[in-house]
Amino acid sequence: MATDVTRVGPTKGLDAEMLDMTLEAIQEFADRHLPADLVLRLDHEDECPVELVRKMCGDDLGIHLLFVPEEYGGMGAGSFDVCRVCEKMAAIDLGVATSVLATALGSDPIAVGAAADQQKLWLTRMAEEGLLFAYGATEPEAGSDLGALKTTATPIEQVGRVVGYRLNGRKQWISNGGIADAYTVLANTPGGPSWFVIERGAEGFTQANPEDKHGIRLSNTAALYLDDVPVDLEALVAVRQFQQQVLPSGLPPTTVWSYGSVNHPATLNYPAFTVEAGADAPVRVRWINGLVDGSGHFLPHLLPVDPTLHWANPPGGAKGRDSRPTFGATPGPYTGPVPMVTHLHGGHSTEESDGYPEA
Ligand SMILES: Cc1cc2nc3c(=O)[nH]c(=O)nc-3n(C[C@H](O)[C@H](O)[C@H](O)COP(=O)(O)OP(=O)(O)OC[C@H]3O[C@@H](n4cnc5c(N)ncnc54)[C@H](O)[C@@H]3O)c2cc1C
Repeated sequence: MATDVTRVGPTKGLDAEMLDMTLEAIQEFADRHLPADLVLRLDHEDECPVELVRKMCGDDLGIHLLFVPEEYGGMGAGSFDVCRVCEKMAAIDLGVATSVLATALGSDPIAVGAAADQQKLWLTRMAEEGLLFAYGATEPEAGSDLGALKTTATPIEQVGRVVGYRLNGRKQWISNGGIADAYTVLANTPGGPSWFVIERGAEGFTQANPEDKHGIRLSNTAALYLDDVPVDLEALVAVRQFQQQVLPSGLPPTTVWSYGSVNHPATLNYPAFTVEAGADAPVRVRWINGLVDGSGHFLPHLLPVDPTLHWANPPGGAKGRDSRPTFGATPGPYTGPVPMVTHLHGGHSTEESDGYPEA
């Protein structure tokens, strides 16, 4: 009796019909978009067809969905399905196969070992946005022997608490290195090696030109440079005083107060950027009052504050905790730190967490 090979392998994954349809769709896509003369030319010119790779990992074909579990919007393919897809893609061109499958490899550290909220965040984004991933393990002096890893992740501490890391090092021969949207990067923390997710465009993160290779030339293989790249464990957002050119150029800059990311000073802007969150994906934000002088002392308010008029703490809150201040005598002007008020739009927040900005 003939063996139905599509039924061999792990029980998790696509059913035989779906796998066949997927393989057929890949072949049809290749027949339409990757004719032999184009593949030969791209191979000769050592050029990765980035737009086609994005189409394959986007709405046109959706191969990336195979690598994403169903609960995050993917198809939840098993390793047998991925193997068959690899085989099919490699028959079309090894370089294109490497580029598409590098996303599976790059997202693997997340799928295998990330915390549940990180898995949800990145795998959902991968399914919805078709993010291309790269997997950054190899270094100039660490290939087979990853114990020789030199890239470091140095903890960033604030008030005795680790709030992020700074990554320094160099990665070598990274598939999709020059074209990925997100990178999983292996680095040594004081507690041992760990994976970090870095987005393209992160401060201090650059990609070299692609290597001119002997084979699989259509895939983009590039070195990565990490120079003090900040990776936040939580979003650190500070209010600060700074100068911004609000008036037309030629006129003096204006002193403004606004918010931005502590580790990405270019984001300090008036009006401040929004922090956006996806449904059901926790986003941790720590608000920091950065309205301080060079010695760390709080700045006074720019305008006089009369606490009998300007105090934003209306009665209410959990257990009636919040109340208007009462005065037996006329108080002097308020000289304490400038209070910060945070307000969440479009979400559920209990009243004690809300800033009552309308008060
Ligand atoms: C096209 C391409 C794409 C790549 N894409 C990625 C990527 O996306 N991400 C990534 O992290 N890396 C990537 N790599 C790097 C690849 O994983 C490494 O090349 C591989 O890990 C081997 O490391 P190395 O080249 O430093 O060789 P070495 O580790 O120096 O090995 C050299 C030779 O010695 C042999 N050898 C090594 N150690 C031993 C041992 N203990 N006993 C016996 N033999 C041994 C090896 O088998 C090999 O033949 C890519 C490489 C290429 C060429």
